[in-house]
Amino acid sequence: MENIAQLKSLLSIPKDIVITSHRNPDGDAIGSSLAMYHYLNEFGHTVRVIFPSEYPDFVAWMSDAEKITIYDIEPERSEELVQKADIIFCLDYNSLDRIDKLGEVIATLKDTQIVMIDHHLFPDIQADFQISEPSASSTCELIYDFIAMMGDRDKINVTIAECIFTGILTDTGSFKYSTSPKLFKIVSHLLELGVDDYKLNDLIFNSLEEKHLRLLGHCLKNRMEIIPEYKTGIIWLNRNDYEQFDIQRGDTEGIVNYLLKLKDIKIAAFITEQPTIVKLSLRSKGNISVQEIAQKHFKGGGHKNASGGSSYSTLKGTINKLKQILPQYKEMISA
Ligand code: 5GP
Ligand code: MN
Repeated sequence: MENIAQLKSLLSIPKDIVITSHRNPDGDAIGSSLAMYHYLNEFGHTVRVIFPSEYPDFVAWMSDAEKITIYDIEPERSEELVQKADIIFCLDYNSLDRIDKLGEVIATLKDTQIVMIDHHLFPDIQADFQISEPSASSTCELIYDFIAMMGDRDKINVTIAECIFTGILTDTGSFKYSTSPKLFKIVSHLLELGVDDYKLNDLIFNSLEEKHLRLLGHCLKNRMEIIPEYKTGIIWLNRNDYEQFDIQRGDTEGIVNYLLKLKDIKIAAFITEQPTIVKLSLRSKGNISVQEIAQKHFKGGGHKNASGGSSYSTLKGTINKLKQILPQYKEMISA
C-alpha cells in the first residue's frame, strides 16, 4: 500500500466504517473482518461488519461475532449501513460479485473510500487503497502487515491476535500450505500476545456434529470417484444427499481435502447440486493450477491450489464437463 500515510491521515478522525467479506465466510473472512473491527474500534471509529450470508458455527466463539450484520437476514439495514459509510473495507475477496447484491450497492457509491486487503489472484475492485498479495497465506497475515504498516503493532491485543490466528490456521490448512519464515514469525508474536493455540484448534476443528461424520463416511464410501489417468479424484453430492443428511451451509467444509490424502491424486474436485446451480470446489497439489481450470471453464477463480466455480448444467453434466476438460491438462498433471 503506497499511500498508507494518506489512509492514516483519513483514519485520524473518527469515521463511519463498514467492513465486508465474501459470501459463505470462512475462518479467514471472519478472522480478518473481526481483527480489523477490533483494531479500528480502538480509535473511536463507528465500525460495522457486514457479510452477505451467515458464518459457520465453528467461528461463533469469536469476540463480537454476534454483532455482525448478515445481508441475507437484514438486507435493508445492510444497504443503509453501506450507503452511509465513509470508508468500506473489502477483506478476503477481490471482486464485487463475491458479495452479491451488496456489491451492486457499493459499485454505485461515489464518495466512499474503498480499502481492499486480499490474497486472491487477479484483483477486480477499484480501490482507493489496496493490499493485494497472492503469495500471502491468508488475508489475516495481511491484516497483521497492515497494522504493522500503520505503525500500530503495539495495538494488537489478544482479541485481535486470536482473530488473526484463526484466519492463518484455517487458510493454511493448519500450517500445511503457503507457509513462510515470515508467517511463523507473525504466529510466534501472536502466541506471545497470549493466543492459546491448543484452545483455538479445539474450538475450530473439534466442533463437528454426528451428522458431519456420517456425511463424510457417505462421501468417501458412496460418492467418490478416482480417475487414475489424470490423477484426479471427484466427490459429488446430489439434492437427495442434501435432504438425507440435512446438509446446511458450511457442513461440507473440508471434505474435498480428503481426496488429496491419496498418494497418487493431484487434483481434487467436490461437486454439489445446489438449488439453482452446481458448485465446484477444486484443490490441487504443487504446480497444478486449479485457478486456471475454475476461471476458464467454471466462471470462478481463487488461488492456484484452491479455487471454486459454478455451472448451470446438471450435476451429471458438470461432472462430465470436468472429465472432458482433464485431457487438456494432461501435461501439467503428469509433470
Ligand atoms: P471453496 O472451494 O472453499 O469454496 O473456495 C476455494 C477458493 O476459491 C476460495 O479462496 C474462494 O475465494 C474461491 N472461490 C470459490 N468459489 C468461487 C467462485 O465462484 N468464484 C470465484 N472467483 N472464486 C471462488
Ligand atoms: Mn482467505
